[in-house]
Parts: sequence; C-alpha cells; structure tokens
Amino acid sequence: MPPLTALSVLQTTFGYPAFRGHQGDIIQNIIDGHDALVLMPTGAGKSLCYQIPAIVRRGVGVVVSPLIALMQDQVDALNELGVKAAFLNSTQDYETAQDVERQLRAGALDLLYVAPERLLMPRTLDLLQSLDIALFAIDEAHCVSQWGHDFRPEYIKLSVLHEQFPSVPRVALTATADPQTRAEIALRLQLTEAREFVSSFDRPNIRYTIVEKNNGRAQLLNYLKAEHAGDAGIVYCLSRKKVEETADFLSKNGIPALPYHAGLDISVRAANQARFLREDNLVMTATIAFGMGIDKPNVRFVAHLDLPKSIEGYYQETGRAGRDGAPANAWMAYGLQDVVQQRRMIAESEAGDDFKRVQYAKLDAMIGLCETITCRRVQLLHYFDQSSEPCGNCDTCLHPPKAVDGTEQVQKLLSTVYRVKQRFATGHIIDVLRGIDTERVQQFHHAELSTFGIGADASEAEWRAVIRQTIAQNLLTVDFESFSSLQLTELARPVLKGEQKVKLRIYEKPVKTKRTANHS
Ligand code: ADP
Ligand code: ZN
Repeated sequence: MPPLTALSVLQTTFGYPAFRGHQGDIIQNIIDGHDALVLMPTGAGKSLCYQIPAIVRRGVGVVVSPLIALMQDQVDALNELGVKAAFLNSTQDYETAQDVERQLRAGALDLLYVAPERLLMPRTLDLLQSLDIALFAIDEAHCVSQWGHDFRPEYIKLSVLHEQFPSVPRVALTATADPQTRAEIALRLQLTEAREFVSSFDRPNIRYTIVEKNNGRAQLLNYLKAEHAGDAGIVYCLSRKKVEETADFLSKNGIPALPYHAGLDISVRAANQARFLREDNLVMTATIAFGMGIDKPNVRFVAHLDLPKSIEGYYQETGRAGRDGAPANAWMAYGLQDVVQQRRMIAESEAGDDFKRVQYAKLDAMIGLCETITCRRVQLLHYFDQSSEPCGNCDTCLHPPKAVDGTEQVQKLLSTVYRVKQRFATGHIIDVLRGIDTERVQQFHHAELSTFGIGADASEAEWRAVIRQTIAQNLLTVDFESFSSLQLTELARPVLKGEQKVKLRIYEKPVKTKRTANHS
C-alpha cells in the first residue's frame, strides 16, 4: 500500500479534488509535527485542517470542541466517509463511553472529539498518556479569550496539553480573532512557537448595510418584504423579551418566524432550530445564543435590531449569511439608544476596570463601523488587520453618505448640556434645544437659558442623530449613576471654544420639521 499523503486522503476519503486556500500548507505543517494557529472565516474549511493530519499521522487525533451538540453529527459524517471517529462527552451513557475508551486503547480510532471539561479530567489525561496521539486540535480557540463573549474558563487550562504532551503537535483554530485575541490565544495556549495561518476574512458575497433606526421593527419588516420575501434568515436582538416580541410581530405580518434564546425550554429550542435548518423560508429571531456551529448554507440575510458589542460579534453573526457563496445581506438598524444601552451594560457590569476598558474600546470600534462614511468592508477587514479596496458591495459604497461640518450644531448641543449643569438626559436636552415648553422646562426655568430654542430648525430625530454621533465621538458621555444625564468630556472643550471642528454624517436627506411648540 502506498503511504498516505494529504492529497490522496483529500481525494479518496473526502472526494475533493484540491485544497482550498492555506489548507494544504496547514496540513503539511501539522503532519511535519509543528504547531499551528489557524484563522479562517466560517465555512472556509477548518475541519479538514486537522482531520487529514489525524488520518495521516500515527495515533489518534484529539479534537477539543465546546460544541457538544454537534459532535454526534460530526462523528456520523466522518463514519459515513469511512473515517474511524468517536466522541466523549457528558451526553453519553457509561457503557458508550467505555466502548469508546476500549476502541482508543485498541488504537482503532483516527479521531476523537472531546469537550474541554472531559479532556481535563485526570482520568482522561491518563488515558491519553497511554496512547499514541497524532495531534491536538483546539477548535473555537477564541473561547480562551476572557475579553470575548464566548469565554470558557476550561479553555485556559488547555495549556496542560503543552506541558503533558510536549511532543504532540497542536493546532488551534478559530473564525474570529482580532490581533488582540490572536495574541491571547497564542499566549494562553502556549502556542507562541506556532506558525500563524491567516486567511482572508472577506466575505465578498455579503452586502453590508447599516441604517439609522427610528422604528427598528417596522424598518425590518419593510426591508424583509422588499428584499427577502420567502427567504431564510436570522434576526438578532439583545433581549429575550425582544426576541419573542419580534418573532410574534413578524409572524403576524406574514413572515414565518420562530424565537430562539437560552430562556426557552431545551426541547423548544431544539425543535425551532431543527425547523430552521430544514425549512427554507423561516426567519429565526434570536439572541446571540443562536448560531455557533450552525451550518445552514442558504441563510440569505442576517439582521441586527440591536447593536452587537464588538466587531468580532458582528462579523461572526453576519458571517452566518451566504455560506453557499450566493449573494446575501447583513442589515442592521442602529440608533442613539443602542449606544446608550451598550455603554450602560458595560458601566453597570460587575467586571473590573481593565475588562471594562477593553469592552469600551471594542464597542467604540463597532460604533465607528456604524458611523463611518467610507466603505464598511474596508473598516471591517481593517479591524482584522487586513487591508482592502472599497468593495462596491456595501451601503456606503453604493450610496455614499455625506459628511457635513456639524461644528455649529454640536456647539449648540454642548453648550446646552453645560447650561443645564450636566444634569439632564437626552430627551430634556432636545426639548430645550428645540424650544419646547414642557413641564420640566418650566420647573427648572430652562426657557430662560440662552440656548433655549436655538436648535428649533432641526427635528427631534435629527437631534438624536447629532447626540448619538457626539457621544460616538466621545465629546459627550452618559452618566448612568445620575439618571443617564449627558456630560461633557475633556474633548468637548476645544469644540466649544471653536478650536476643533466636528464632522457629522448625514444618513438620509434630513427632513426639516416645524417646531411643535413655541416658547415665546
Ligand atoms: P469551517 O469549520 O471553517 O466553518 P468546514 O470545515 O465545516 O468549515 O467546511 C465547510 C464546507 O466546505 C464543508 O462542507 C467542507 O466539506 C467543505 N470543504 C472544505 N474544504 C474543502 C475543499 N478543499 N474542497 C471542497 N470543499 C471543501
Ligand atoms: Zn464597500
């Protein structure tokens, strides 16, 4: 029998003619016994990168994955192809696990899938010590990052693999890793010697669109009716309640939709997910609990009704669209409330200051992507350290937005915030700017302020957009400890003094409205 080569396994076992992208190099690197850190977007073909070396190398390849629910399917698919694979996790009964261990001892397996908590049990580590190990593959390696939303504490302990099995090559794989997360993976998993293979993160068939939110749900409905009648897609919302309300709302308006969030009964979740995978015209309304490991090729759109916490989250969620390569849409409605809400969640979390700082920075990058007037894809890829040309397939390329000099408008806003002693929230500030004689205005004598009514030429929605961008540019902050009042930052001073100009993005043609009440 001729020796197994990577290419012959690809062709005879998996039935594919050629490697894609870096696959060939990655596989050879591992077959040669070296470590690797693999960054590849979802759907690009990470699995073969460890499956083939596990088959070619002597011994069993151990795949660490947090996705217990998918192990059965993965193993079934491999067995179907004639690859000897099995898994060990908490869903198995004792007998089945015993049987897998017997096969391992007999050297009868090419691949073993195992959950990290199972792998780390002394008993499992002892068992593995007695075997020939072809490699360790650490899937979804970004779970090691404490700053990310998929953090799994057991992942940090996976450094024992390096200590206990120093001569076994290890490969860590992930679809989401900005340079910071990448460095964290290398450090925590002791992969500092590993070769990094970074694939292009571009998903050219996905069109990115971010609209200004006024009534998110109604905007979504219009958008889906216009662009995605009868299509399968995912709508992400922040809260469980909103997930359910949105699913109801879409269903009542003729778009079949099901909810998915971690608060639903496991059987309901499983049933909804199964229907989503099976049917071709279903919308899944979900929290971010939905999606990791979901492989449905014909998801035609991913919509966000709330702002994700980071660009990685946005990229990962939108990446579930168009895995078949056909055109797909990533659509998001974004507004002032999103910025305030996300900042509040960070401010009010129990986390330490370092953690909060990182979260604020990630959020700021996400807000920057929303507010940009240049190509969204360029910004998105830049975040992952990849440079590219304007794409022609995002809203800012297709309908270039205008940036105007908003200095005067922002000065009006900042001085109003100053004059009300930085003690009032958005709604009241807008009333003062627009010269609306509310009960509150009377109570605090704010009609006497010199800025009362100086912003009456703009609508409430326009002022919200100005405030949002002013917060996004860190000229204003929201003080959550005092009734969400708006406060000036250090950066506001040069703007107020006329030393610094401010650019504002105009989303749609501003519709001028008459003031609704008059103070004189
Ligand atoms: P990922 O884990 O990166 O999301 P998968 O490993 O699940 O991606 O692969 C996605 C799909 O691409 C699978 O259906 C896989 O069989 C297919 N695929 C992977 N590599 C190749 C290849 N070299 N040629 C053709 N199809 C491939
Ligand atoms: Zn573009």
